Amino acid sequence: MALDQIRAARSISRVELAEGLGLTSAAVTRIVRDLLDDGLVVEDGRGRSTGGKPRTILRLNVRSRYSIGVHLERNACVIVVIDLAGGVVTRAVLPGVASAPPGEILSSLADRIHVRLRSAGIELSTVVGLGLVTYGPQDWRSGVLLTPQPNPQWLDFPVAERMSEFVRLPVLVDNDANAAAIGEYWLGGVEPSSTFASLYLGTGIGGGVVVAGQLYRGSSSNGVEIGHISIDVNGESCSCGNRGCLERMAGPEAVVRHAWQTPLADRLALGPSVPATEYADFLDLFARITDAAVAGDTEAQALVEESARLLGHASITLANLFDLDTIVLAGPGFGSAAATYREVIAAEVNRSWFSRRAHAVRVVPSVSGSDAAAIGAAALVLQHGLVDRPIHPVPRRTAV
Ligand SMILES: [Zn+2]
Repeated sequence: MALDQIRAARSISRVELAEGLGLTSAAVTRIVRDLLDDGLVVEDGRGRSTGGKPRTILRLNVRSRYSIGVHLERNACVIVVIDLAGGVVTRAVLPGVASAPPGEILSSLADRIHVRLRSAGIELSTVVGLGLVTYGPQDWRSGVLLTPQPNPQWLDFPVAERMSEFVRLPVLVDNDANAAAIGEYWLGGVEPSSTFASLYLGTGIGGGVVVAGQLYRGSSSNGVEIGHISIDVNGESCSCGNRGCLERMAGPEAVVRHAWQTPLADRLALGPSVPATEYADFLDLFARITDAAVAGDTEAQALVEESARLLGHASITLANLFDLDTIVLAGPGFGSAAATYREVIAAEVNRSWFSRRAHAVRVVPSVSGSDAAAIGAAALVLQHGLVDRPIHPVPRRTAV
């Protein structure tokens, strides 16, 4: 926690650190000595004094360690390397996993990562680990996906274990929407004491809740699945087993399927519709609809606004359950229509949520744009490797 306080404060004295952590100055002196020995923090000049001798200021040694984040989706794969302050040192976007076998994808990803690290001049020994975020549900502790997504070969595949072998680093597997939420906190996009949710719009709709810097994990780290909250008890059945799910009614695929039934499909050259069970690049097709909406196409605007209204409706439930002060809109799906979504969701929530007389809910765009999940994946590794646990030598072939 000491490192997290120093990171959040940017610069801090030992006395302020002791106050913030509720520890004795002797305990803080010991903790700081270890952090200095590990090279994670540096002493940097003197701060203002309140009498007596000036206080030595502690700062994060930003480039002393690095972390890798990988966001793996069917249609794109984002890799980022971040420093201790969350700054992106290097970034790459690769084609998605499509129908390739997991072993092949992970091995080639590891090769690309090693090349990337070498060209950025980063030693593998200074990398704390790799966070790989993707579809849920997952068995977070064993690093195994419990879903036939991105394709059926990933179901029950030992993702963390195999990736750890290929990349020679500890690997953590997590949900992309959870990662986007913690990434927002790590990058200072919200107040440290905030209770906020990220609403993640990618191929599907996900969510994550952070309470004062801690990700809400539920009992198996598969919580806050806002995309699978039912907004119509008599609605169409969803692949998750529920009916009338938000994702099924308002996600990119749903909007594209609506557009396919209108003249908009020809106007925007969306191509022929595919059967309900078949996959298309819905995120790309959806972007064409949001671009048209922004350009003034009223039919496209109506579809986007309806999707935003349904997201706003589900966000009322999210705000009511967690008493949120902020909702962050993250993920590539919002794209060019982010302003419309923000406006409509904020209006829906603040008109009807239960505690609106106590306080408003802010709805804001993510500070990390469409890289939110990848940056969050890397931030999760830093939090696990450096904050929640004491720093330890990087084990080989071991998942954290
Ligand atoms: Zn569902």
